[in-house]
Amino acid sequence: MDLVCPSCQDQPLAVAGRTMRCEVCDGAWINEETLVALLEERTNSLVTLPWSERLGDKQMPCAACKAPMLTVNLGDVALDRCAQHGVWFDAHELVSLLKQSKRFKTEADAEVTEPPHEHHGLLGVFARLFRR
Ligand SMILES: [Zn+2]
Ligand SMILES: [Zn+2]
Repeated sequence: MDLVCPSCQDQPLAVAGRTMRCEVCDGAWINEETLVALLEERTNSLVTLPWSERLGDKQMPCAACKAPMLTVNLGDVALDRCAQHGVWFDAHELVSLLKQSKRFKTEADAEVTEPPHEHHGLLGVFARLFRR
């Protein structure tokens, strides 16, 4: 299937590594599995993508199916997304997303749960002092 630049509209996209690039506007098209794989390689960790919907922006047509894409944010990067086919990054947005890839580490992986220790610290000492 030929992919067409969602931004320039009549410009075909060309393979560039694991992305498809528009030579005119330098935007990049990437499917979601590839995007997750790229982020996981950078963080050495599982990642989840916390899409948040961005309202009010002009919708661009999907590079593959031409249906209007959702305007979304990932971190502070603004993107356009077709849930079936992939994600569109304007020029440099992919680079800035990759720079903040650590943000998308899966929580369970990043956080070590500590037992609550309020009763073992100073408060616990006072509690014992006053408990006679
Ligand atoms: Zn373009
Ligand atoms: Zn699509």
